[in-house]
Amino acid sequence: MVHFVGAGPGAPDLITLRGAELLQNADQVIYAGSLVNPALLTHCRNDCLILNSAEMTLEEVVAAMARAEEKGQTTVRLHTGDPSVYGAIREQMDRLDELGIDYDVVPGVSSFCGAAAALRAEYTLPGVSQSVILTRMAGRTPVPEKESIAAFAAHGSSMAVFLSAGMLDELREELLKGAYTDETPAALVYKASWPEERCIHCTVGTMARHAEENGIRKTALVLIGEFLHGDFERSRHYDPAFSTDFRKGKETP
Ligand code: SAH
Repeated sequence: MVHFVGAGPGAPDLITLRGAELLQNADQVIYAGSLVNPALLTHCRNDCLILNSAEMTLEEVVAAMARAEEKGQTTVRLHTGDPSVYGAIREQMDRLDELGIDYDVVPGVSSFCGAAAALRAEYTLPGVSQSVILTRMAGRTPVPEKESIAAFAAHGSSMAVFLSAGMLDELREELLKGAYTDETPAALVYKASWPEERCIHCTVGTMARHAEENGIRKTALVLIGEFLHGDFERSRHYDPAFSTDFRKGKETP
């Protein structure tokens, strides 16, 4: 059996209880070494075989899973954040289907949630934005043209940009084609929840300079939008005058 487990953004206690238990019982762990905090591996047994997928191809990862399966062993495939966001798990699951190897997926705290927590921010502020766009710049791997940042930027909603901290001049150009300006608030969150976490408040116009000055090129999220700053309306849900299924609203006299 193979368990795809979300490791969370970095702190070893931000994995789910289910994920930690699976790590404790695993015979083999294949972890995404370029991003997963190695401190997570302290959950593993001493005799657990630990492989770093940063040095492996898809074929090698699947072969290691198949070897363990032949011995009746359990593999944890440990991905950073939540496996469903840029985790490249689909291609692994398809191979396991072909090989008849059973698997399941345990979600994790995505880094976009870890980054908001680090900033003590809320993406969905009433009257500001009620949507979060998770996306990335096209780099060595392409993004479909209809999903360009410039296309998403038309909405001016809250945005979390993955895998793009090394391309901030280009990101700014794309953002300015839409509803954002050089004054739109932005934040760089480096290694959210790791001991070396850093949060830098900036704007679309200054984010590239801040990244350069702080030597931030990877393991960082770029957050953009008015949610980082400014006015908002209080939530209607917790307004005394608003009725919900659980509470009758009282009009103020
Ligand atoms: N599945 C992961 C994303 C993997 S893609 C998730 O759900 O978070 C890798 C990108 O995620 C990095 O380039 C960076 O943009 C972001 N990232 C991962 N961990 C991070 C962290 N602790 N802090 C900030 N960004 C992080």
